[in-house]
Amino acid sequence: LPVPGLVVIGGVAAGLSCATRARRIDPALPITVLEKGPVVSYGACGLPYFVEGQVRRLDDLIVYTPAYFATERNIDVRTSAEVVEIRHSSRQVVLASGERLPYEKLAIATGARPDLSAIEGSQLPNVFALQTLDDAARLLQFIKVSGPRRAVVIGAGYIGLEAAEALRTHGIAVELRTATGDVLGRRDSRLTAILEKHLATFGVQLRCSMPVREIVENCGELVVIATGVKPNVELAVSAGVTLGRTGAIAVTDRMETNLPSVYAAGDCSETRHLVTRRDVYIPLGTTANKTGRIAGANAAGRRESFPGVVGTSIVRVCGLGVALTGLSESQAKLEHFNPVRVTVDAKDKAGYFRGRPTSVELVADKGSGVLIGGMVIGEEGVAGRINVIATALTNRMTVEEFQELDLAYAPPYATVWDPLLIAAQQLSKLLH
Ligand SMILES: Cc1cc2nc3c(=O)[nH]c(=O)nc-3n(C[C@H](O)[C@H](O)[C@H](O)COP(=O)(O)OP(=O)(O)OC[C@H]3O[C@@H](n4cnc5c(N)ncnc54)[C@H](O)[C@@H]3O)c2cc1C
Repeated sequence: LPVPGLVVIGGVAAGLSCATRARRIDPALPITVLEKGPVVSYGACGLPYFVEGQVRRLDDLIVYTPAYFATERNIDVRTSAEVVEIRHSSRQVVLASGERLPYEKLAIATGARPDLSAIEGSQLPNVFALQTLDDAARLLQFIKVSGPRRAVVIGAGYIGLEAAEALRTHGIAVELRTATGDVLGRRDSRLTAILEKHLATFGVQLRCSMPVREIVENCGELVVIATGVKPNVELAVSAGVTLGRTGAIAVTDRMETNLPSVYAAGDCSETRHLVTRRDVYIPLGTTANKTGRIAGANAAGRRESFPGVVGTSIVRVCGLGVALTGLSESQAKLEHFNPVRVTVDAKDKAGYFRGRPTSVELVADKGSGVLIGGMVIGEEGVAGRINVIATALTNRMTVEEFQELDLAYAPPYATVWDPLLIAAQQLSKLLH
């Protein structure tokens, strides 16, 4: 048997961040990454833009190859290497081929898969998910060969919204169905109304509260299922790893599972929400990279912690940027805050610089005056503004502190009173 070292299961964001960080810290540690698929290190985030045509080749989404890891980082990355069992008592993983590999430290970075369980007919040839390179290739091939004129996208999370936009670029009329009354999981009727109107102008019909339970043949020409993902936890569970309240792997802030020397990171694990202080499941590439890094550092002997997330995300919806962080007003109520909210519709830069409408929402807790959520919608400057709010949330800033921030201004970029500061001033009045 090879010398035991760090074995990582899963070769995408979390797994490779973990392996790379461990290598930087310990140049002598034997590190093996086991990936069941045919490729590693690809950016699933780019898949909608491949379907759309902006990314020309799927290979452009692959960042590094196993050969690169072997020569540049001295990490043994194996593809088509599915782990079928973790034998923790003897510190071994068993591959589908029957091969056994010993480990001293193990990192589980098995990610997530589309949740197709609630919909019958998901195996039909005109039904697609959008999770892997192969999914995207098959979807684009279907569009080119079959030339569908209509499509139903099930789910209005960010993947459903991106898929809808991608299908529109092929001239396909899209119906976007949600099971609940809202979009982007935000419980925000104003956001839903804004997107419903915006999508309609681009030929996408948003139909909320219309759950799909079954897809029957010839129901429409193309169906994309984007109803969210389920963490891949079965392998870990059968080895005795404990799940958290969300159904993903429970981890400490050092990304340790309940089993000694076994770490978990990325989309298969939970994380801590810094606003609610509760464990949450928010599977995103940003967090997968960071938690993978922390798992790798600790597996290599350091003591490092991942503080948590504030739930920041951004998506382009038919040209409109929609960015969220923290809690919406109704989410805040469910979390037992006493929320106050303002919405400001302003220009994203000086009017004489063709300033375009932008909408900023801030949510604060009335008792403490601390900011607990925000949303920015607009064509430009959306990422910059949501990142300011996310920074404030991370640092538990009050509205008073936020409205004094020294934000940048020049006519091509902003207004002298940035929309964020206008919103904070208005919110401050409601707090007093
Ligand atoms: C269409 C799309 C768009 C996205 N856009 C964004 C975005 O804009 N911003 C953002 O932050 N995030 C985005 N994401 C999410 C992001 O891609 C994921 O959060 C990230 O890939 C998670 O990384 P991971 O390493 O935890 O898991 P994964 O990427 O799921 O990788 C896990 C790997 O483990 C392998 N594996 C599983 N079980 C085994 C086993 N038993 N043995 C061996 N290997 C195994 C799997 O084959 C897989 O390759 C997007 C995702 C999709 C699908």
